Amino acid sequence: MNTTRFCYFDNNATTRVLPEVVEAMLPFFNEQWGNPSSAYHFGHQLTRPLDAARASVAALIGAEPREIIFTSCGTESINSALNLSSRIDPKKRHIVVSAVEHSATMKFCLHLEKAGISVTRLQVAPDGTLDLKQLEQSIRPDTAMVSLIWANNETGVVFQIAEAATFCRERGILFHTDAVQAVGKIPVDVKSAGVDLLSLSGHKLNAPKGIGALYVRQGVPYEPFVIGGGQERGRRGGTENVPYIVGLGRAAQLARAAFSEMSTVQGLRDRLESSILERIPKVAINGTTATRLPNTSNLAFEGTEAEAILMLLDQAGICASSGSACTTGSLEPSHVLTAMGCSPARARSSIRFSLGRHSTREDVDYLVSVLPGIIQRLREAAA
Ligand code: PLP
Repeated sequence: MNTTRFCYFDNNATTRVLPEVVEAMLPFFNEQWGNPSSAYHFGHQLTRPLDAARASVAALIGAEPREIIFTSCGTESINSALNLSSRIDPKKRHIVVSAVEHSATMKFCLHLEKAGISVTRLQVAPDGTLDLKQLEQSIRPDTAMVSLIWANNETGVVFQIAEAATFCRERGILFHTDAVQAVGKIPVDVKSAGVDLLSLSGHKLNAPKGIGALYVRQGVPYEPFVIGGGQERGRRGGTENVPYIVGLGRAAQLARAAFSEMSTVQGLRDRLESSILERIPKVAINGTTATRLPNTSNLAFEGTEAEAILMLLDQAGICASSGSACTTGSLEPSHVLTAMGCSPARARSSIRFSLGRHSTREDVDYLVSVLPGIIQRLREAAA
């Protein structure tokens, strides 16, 4: 096999930092490395680049700059939003999430449960979609918050966020969305969607890892989760990570400008799927009938184990991933695919290919040339 080739199909895991983003960040390591809270010019001269970055991130999601709080990552944004559910009203002790949230939500819910908050996890249909009637039925007089993932990181399935947010707004229930995978890939506008809180992450957007943002609609009684020196107008303690914030701002600008490229990405994703379905028997697309992100394909290869496929793809220079988490040597099937009703065997045979703006037709064709042999080899070995 050609091992000198490198094909990256794991953009939902992380993306490459764009050279323009690196370039925008460098002066804030080398020259303007002060603390924005310092009283002298060397520090407070950073206010302007921070404001510009905030404006760019706000523009990407249709928010006002003052509604953006910079955080350390998507996980922190999500934890901070969910934390609010236990703080807004001592009588409201219930929240609603879906069964297919990212672990940043799932694990924080376990933490909330230990603190006495009751959590309803909405089930999804076999195509990964959410029935909003279920949301309606789950609401209780003491429901403080609903939090739903906008686009699923494993399957790319997109939830009807505007409908869910409107439903919650009409009932005075706070609505948060984990839009980490949605921002930059599909239109996300906080005002037209009507969300109260939204989480995003830099490294899914060609900015570095370790920077995120939380949108908090003006008027939402926000309480900080990370408490310290009163930065971010008292809403998030911790000295601002100026270079990374600037990087996120630049990446947000570039994502906005390049939004139309997503149709090219979708064309490549569709080519990948149709070529694989044509050349390999017994393959199913998880979430195929749902509205999906333009870049994501989650495929089940009957009679195989995802980990073995990934190993052989890696040997061929191809990066992809499975939804499975490896715990103490045993492979746990993905909770997302399990919630969609996939058998453990189907879940364990599923691979996620996630394309990005650097993906090429050559990459797709190379994958499609290599994969049939890998699947055949594994099926023969298992027979
Ligand atoms: N939410 C979703 C849907 C994600 O895909 C991820 C990252 O994979 C996160 C949250 C967490 O983001 P971060 O890695 O910035 O903490």
